[in-house]
Amino acid sequence: MAADETFVVVGAGHAGGRAVEAMRGAGFDGRIVLAGAESHLPYERPPLSKEVLAKDKDLAYCLTNSEDWYADNRIEVMLGDPVRALDPGRRRVVLDSGREVAYSRLLLATGARVRRLGLPGDDLAGVHYLRAIDDALALRADLREGARIVVVGGGFIGLEVAASARLRGCRVTVLESMPALLGRVAAPGIAEHVEGVHRRNGVDVRTGVTVTALEGGPRVERVVLANGEVLAADAVVVGIGVVPNVELAAAAGIETDNGVLVDEFCRASAPDVYAAGDVTNHYNPLLGKRMRLESWQNAQNQAIAAAKVMCGAEAPFAEVPWLWSDQFDLNLQIAGAGMEADETVSRENADGFIVFQRAGGRLIGAIAVNRPRDMRAARTLIAKRPDVPAADLADPSIPLRKLIG
Ligand SMILES: Cc1cc2nc3c(=O)[nH]c(=O)nc-3n(C[C@H](O)[C@H](O)[C@H](O)COP(=O)(O)OP(=O)(O)OC[C@H]3O[C@@H](n4cnc5c(N)ncnc54)[C@H](O)[C@@H]3O)c2cc1C
Repeated sequence: MAADETFVVVGAGHAGGRAVEAMRGAGFDGRIVLAGAESHLPYERPPLSKEVLAKDKDLAYCLTNSEDWYADNRIEVMLGDPVRALDPGRRRVVLDSGREVAYSRLLLATGARVRRLGLPGDDLAGVHYLRAIDDALALRADLREGARIVVVGGGFIGLEVAASARLRGCRVTVLESMPALLGRVAAPGIAEHVEGVHRRNGVDVRTGVTVTALEGGPRVERVVLANGEVLAADAVVVGIGVVPNVELAAAAGIETDNGVLVDEFCRASAPDVYAAGDVTNHYNPLLGKRMRLESWQNAQNQAIAAAKVMCGAEAPFAEVPWLWSDQFDLNLQIAGAGMEADETVSRENADGFIVFQRAGGRLIGAIAVNRPRDMRAARTLIAKRPDVPAADLADPSIPLRKLIG
């Protein structure tokens, strides 16, 4: 790593922010350019649907580092100026403003954007999507006490928004087209439990319903369902998933397939191009498969791993995937790759429960409801002792950490 080298990071989000920190941490003394489409310094997104909406926290609460930190660490931050083209042949990026920056090594951390509803009326005022701090602040302004808030999508974001809106005294309806909430979480009992928590907190949860249009003007006033029902709404929040921002990479001839394809060393298909965070479809050597994750852990730790590799380390990014969600007093944590389970084993106690997911007799995933400590042990078991017997997993008299061996 020569001091005359330049590392360019495209995307000043969570992964981008942690990557530049890790580059300096690994001793890289050259030029670092961090280019971001948003006009804000890198920040973490989990608080957007929680503390920012429910507790009036703002950008300062979410920032990964202060403005001074970037100056002190000689990070050239170029904000509000998205990168519009990459040229891996000439090793250059071109920003929207026309600025060009040459790189020795490039990290793509362009994240993901919200999936649009694509129905009549989804561009009316009062229809919200939630990805960025500006989205959260605009939504918060509409979460007035007594306001009728319709949430389209019963996944993590939709349910966290529903909880925050209830905490602000809104009247909240959640609409989910699938028969159960949390379609991404395939384990018996979880969706029912989460639905129960929401109902007990006054959320009107409706599953198996399809939205066909949003009506009103200039503000949204009504949500029309396929069954003919019409719901009055003062604001609508759409949370139906995200799509990775791969276009920049794809246009430059870098291989993509549901994300920028990277190996376990975060290397993309072009020389000296790396990627980290929501935008990647990466190979996880621990689980022996490719995956695209949308989680804090992946944004943070894959970015750190990528930065270290860019600085010359030879350590792969190999972690058990993990994410959490907080809704009311419910803490939900998910680890591993449980969607492929052929068997589940539950362990319950007074505070909550944990469901272990197994495939071919091996532990591949776990979902914990209000059991954060059990989840810590479960993550280690998935990584190190997938052969742990089902009977031991089910027996609450055996502390999980004892099974790690
Ligand atoms: C509301 C919300 C709540 C969440 N809660 C949780 C949670 O509780 N637990 C959990 O594990 N995860 C949670 N997540 C997920 C987690 O925050 C994301 O996985 C993480 O932010 C991904 O980081 P990233 O850096 O890859 O992408 P992002 O944080 O999306 O950052 C990408 C950045 O790149 C910028 N960009 C895109 N294209 C360009 C371009 N061409 N040029 C320059 N810049 C560009 C974008 O504008 C953006 O600023 C939540 C996400 C959201 C939105």
